[in-house]
Amino acid sequence: MRSATLMFLLSLLPLLSSPPVRAEQPGSTSIAAWRGDARCALSLTFDDNHPSRGEAAAILDGFGFTGTFFVIVGSVDARMERIYEDLAMRGHELGSHSLSHAHLLQASSEQVEYELGLSKARLEEMTGLACVSFASPYGEVNAVILETAARHYLSARGTTGGTNADGTFDMYNLGINIFPPGIGPYSEADYLSVLRQYVEYVDSVGGWGTEMFHNIGPENNLITVTAHTLSTHCEELASGALSDSIWVAPQGRAARYYLERMNTEAETDLVTSDTIVVRLNFDGDRRVFDEPLTVKTVIAVDWPQAAPEVFQDGKEYSCRLDMAGADRVAVYEALPGRGPVTIRRP
Ligand SMILES: [Zn+2]
Repeated sequence: MRSATLMFLLSLLPLLSSPPVRAEQPGSTSIAAWRGDARCALSLTFDDNHPSRGEAAAILDGFGFTGTFFVIVGSVDARMERIYEDLAMRGHELGSHSLSHAHLLQASSEQVEYELGLSKARLEEMTGLACVSFASPYGEVNAVILETAARHYLSARGTTGGTNADGTFDMYNLGINIFPPGIGPYSEADYLSVLRQYVEYVDSVGGWGTEMFHNIGPENNLITVTAHTLSTHCEELASGALSDSIWVAPQGRAARYYLERMNTEAETDLVTSDTIVVRLNFDGDRRVFDEPLTVKTVIAVDWPQAAPEVFQDGKEYSCRLDMAGADRVAVYEALPGRGPVTIRRP
């Protein structure tokens, strides 16, 4: 067979093996499920006050991850305050785990308000950053706790198992990982296997997993995790089979992204031969919602095979080219509700 004929037949193969995908118009825009076009999100969270916070954070740092540390704000001594300030400086999130770790189910609504409101205010004073995440002590929730958390925070983590797939979860009672049977100690293999299964479940539904840990300790059980186990888990998240599909982010950043995505409407303003202008309409508070969204805009087929230039509000954002079905898309980051995004032919 002549090579030109062979090349022609080979060029038909993709058409035979995959169903045709209807091409979208240039300018057609969608928002990725999670930051960086990841399929799922995962937040590593650590409850209560313990000096091993610094050690846990150092393990996360080693893999470029940042986590959420839920603080019992009323019992932070000078030593813990220094540790927490250091964690916040390194990009980890401090969330509230109430003032006193009281059983909030037995508290009056005034006490619940006091525990949730004052702990948030004190943490914000300590770090100078907005405190947007809460975890109820003992995972206790009722209507008053949920309503109070919703007035003060963007999200609250619970203690029951769940993968937090779109539209199936309560932002103020986020589901967590499951544990091996019993209270422990668990072998490292058992504990890692259950964590791995959780991440696989979360990935399979495109959800947002929140993993609960407490202290670094000498064994794996409901409260402690060994430094080696946590480190191995992080290593699997950073370089394992699912590493490309997971966005590991503190609870507050994942909550911002989710809420922004659910409440942003992408609108195409202008399409010319060399420019596309897109608007990301969003009404939320810009001081709180500052997590860039990963956005995908279809570009014309005759644009060169190079990443377009993307600008918003006078700033250039990084952009890469990708395929979505039959379409070529510019994949870039931009902030919702901050004015037009201009995509230029390179
Ligand atoms: Zn606790």
